[in-house]
Amino acid sequence: TVLRFRNDRAAASVGLETLSDAEWVAHFGRFQPLAGNLDPPLAQRYHGHQFRVYNPDLGDGRGFTFAQMREAETDRLLDLGTKGSGRTPFSRGGDGLAALAPMLRESIMGEAMHALGIPTTRALAVIRTGERVNREGSPPGAILVRVAASHLRVGTFEFFAAREEEVMLRRLLDYAVARHDPALAKLSDKPIPMLEAVCERQAQLIARWMGVGFIHGVMNTDNMSISGETIDYGPCAFMEGFDPATVFSSIDRQGRYAYGQQPAMAQWNLARLAEALLPVLDARDIDVVERVEQVVAGFAVRFDRHWTGQLRAKLGLAAEEPDDRALADDFLQLLQREKVDFTLAFRLLSDAITGPDAALHDLFGRERPALSDWLARWRQRMAREGRTLQDCAATAWSVNPFVIPRNHQVEAALSSAVDEADLGPFERLLAVLGRPYETVESARPFTLPASPEVAAAHRTFCGT
Ligand code: AMP
Ligand code: MG
Repeated sequence: TVLRFRNDRAAASVGLETLSDAEWVAHFGRFQPLAGNLDPPLAQRYHGHQFRVYNPDLGDGRGFTFAQMREAETDRLLDLGTKGSGRTPFSRGGDGLAALAPMLRESIMGEAMHALGIPTTRALAVIRTGERVNREGSPPGAILVRVAASHLRVGTFEFFAAREEEVMLRRLLDYAVARHDPALAKLSDKPIPMLEAVCERQAQLIARWMGVGFIHGVMNTDNMSISGETIDYGPCAFMEGFDPATVFSSIDRQGRYAYGQQPAMAQWNLARLAEALLPVLDARDIDVVERVEQVVAGFAVRFDRHWTGQLRAKLGLAAEEPDDRALADDFLQLLQREKVDFTLAFRLLSDAITGPDAALHDLFGRERPALSDWLARWRQRMAREGRTLQDCAATAWSVNPFVIPRNHQVEAALSSAVDEADLGPFERLLAVLGRPYETVESARPFTLPASPEVAAAHRTFCGT
């Protein structure tokens, strides 16, 4: 067992930064209980809809909740969960193990999301087990420990609903509310307010994902957290050339979880959560089902508000005008027509607020005249902000990252970590991704897209 990644910053948030490396391996590689914490650990059962199909055979098959700790800053309870720690009662045919590369990949993606300011679970540790796992190429095995606001999923509710365990469903609801919506804990009738809170968090989360070009790739109901964090980094990836139909996952042949489908799929999942809550709705309220349907339908409105807000900020705007969305959509159309790199385009647009726009023009080919027309409209709109251009640029820079985890760079870092046991590139990539909104000159090589051929061939896998 060799410690491969030790996230001291995440550890500090739960007071674990003083552990020695040996203690670190003892706790997070061999699961010696942390003082006063869960003993024995807890594997959770859940169900879920995977690619629309109901699966009643899910659960922590290769992980468990190892400890629960309070976050110093907020006092909220966090779960320390494992992945790749061996078989549990819910492993069925699986070996309960994980390979090193996908665990390092989850670490990169989670840290990148965290630095981007997007709610996410984070890797606390990746420890090489010293054994090889039975997958293609016999890769080295590893254990990941992640920190999560909780591991309650839409599928956790589906589990009790499917089994018609109403008392347990109520207890789960109370537990989830106490953890994620304590302000609602005193209400006698919680299901609808809780559903609204989950819808709001997901609407915000998906808008943030889309604002940085993130594609989760496997938004099954067992991978949607009640807390509103991004969870389960499997076939996820960041889009490069802008196209809402972009999908990387090798198993998503229909493009169900494509970039632009994400709001609709989130809403579909929330409808499953609503159904799971039906047994605990107030039976005396004859309109209750209709009200639940309205909450789910209201997701689209919530998402639209957050997405419009994201786009406005991405254009450097803070005031609200009715035509802002059309202005933003027209820019996205331009990007789509030439599959322009999403991240570069918005960053160079931000730079063009106070500087020259030649580099932005260089991203385009035949659409350059259309871009010039659009830029003129945008500058007219910006003139009505009543703010300095410096302030508008600051708005844009704060949401348009300079660096994201580009697929070819992530792959390069992982292959050197696994094939050559050299973690240098992995660590350099993590460092660069830790300050995504700053223009750091030395990080410029990380801002370059892959060649179109490499990008088009990129495929991601579930990492099981
Ligand atoms: P995931 O892709 O990690 O979200 O897992 C989906 C389901 O498959 C969950 O029920 C997991 O517990 C289970 N699973 C995934 N990989 C393994 C494995 N190597 N061994 C046992 N169960 C697994
Ligand atoms: Mg999962």
